[in-house]
Amino acid sequence: MVQVITMSIAQVLRWLLIVVIMIAGCVPPPEYMAKTGKRIGLDNDYIRVLLLKDQYKVEVVTTAKTKVIQPANNTIIYNADAKRFVFFDNQLTQPLQFETWNNEIQVNGITVRGMIQLHPVVGKIQVVNVLKMNEYLSGVLPSEIMPGWPMEVLKAQAVAARTYAYYHLIKNNSTYFDLDATGNFQVYKGKAVETEATNKAVESTAGIIMTYNNKPILAYFHSTCGGKTTDDKFVWQGEDLPYLTSVVCPYCKNSPHYSWKVELTLHDIYEALVKRYQSVGKIKAITLGREDTRVTVVKIEHANGIIRMSGNDFRLMFDAKKIKSLYFEAKQTPAGLVLTGYGWGHGVGMCQWGAKEMAQQGMRFDQILKFYYRGIHIMTYNLQK
Ligand SMILES: [Zn+2]
Repeated sequence: MVQVITMSIAQVLRWLLIVVIMIAGCVPPPEYMAKTGKRIGLDNDYIRVLLLKDQYKVEVVTTAKTKVIQPANNTIIYNADAKRFVFFDNQLTQPLQFETWNNEIQVNGITVRGMIQLHPVVGKIQVVNVLKMNEYLSGVLPSEIMPGWPMEVLKAQAVAARTYAYYHLIKNNSTYFDLDATGNFQVYKGKAVETEATNKAVESTAGIIMTYNNKPILAYFHSTCGGKTTDDKFVWQGEDLPYLTSVVCPYCKNSPHYSWKVELTLHDIYEALVKRYQSVGKIKAITLGREDTRVTVVKIEHANGIIRMSGNDFRLMFDAKKIKSLYFEAKQTPAGLVLTGYGWGHGVGMCQWGAKEMAQQGMRFDQILKFYYRGIHIMTYNLQK
């Protein structure tokens, strides 16, 4: 008799557990959707893109039936027709998620696919676009490469951008987003920029990524290497990744950025320095240190002391188009420095103009990628295996 009662309680508990799981399963929280049940590379994955940072006002305009939920407690606060919603930073007390079953959503004028989440963080609204990997890549490709280029270079770019995205998705940069929509990661401009050719490149490479030791690689890319790519360790101190090593690239000579010349006056340099170093005095001498082809160290002697910085930090003190790369020579003139250089961008990983030429010469996307990223595998990666 006692045993029968015990069994009943166990059965009841089991049923309760099943009911609880079913209720929870109705509206999975976004973290669950983005982080679990993944078959990496098969486009079942959601990525969370920080679309807009620190907004005081956000306008969300939907174009179809809309559901707004509070993911923290799975409460539905709106479930009806398309609508225009406006939020101010002081009104938003907890995260909100807007779903329109993959119809277009506009947020502060940007049209996107997928879902929108608003997160109140440090008194401002952070706008996150949660969408499928291929939908995200379709908004990245036209922002990062010329859509009119040959299909094999577009496919190489799709695989590089997908690999880069998975690297950050797995890395867990933040609790509420995986990467942002700017050049800090890779530029994403939503649905409006999509083109037929770039979407085709994304779809025809669906699921394909580059791995090293069975993990997605940090697939850096840049416009033009200027004849030779460089090791990541010469640009950014710290990591020295085995697949990001210097490669002689004979393919980017037709790039409009292959060589360049720019004058930096002492006034330009002083103005850039004084924003970072308040005690900087009159500049007396500038010395460049080099590794491989790249400027890795810049030493500036001034009236009040000496400043040493990495070549990359020196380059980034100026407008991005001023010093186009770290591959340059400098000649001192009475006015300042005349720089003669090669290439555009950090010079690490795939050289896009080189990749374009390789595609024109008949090479496939996988051959292009294996040329610029050494020792990698190209595969459809499955985290569950
Ligand atoms: Zn190149």
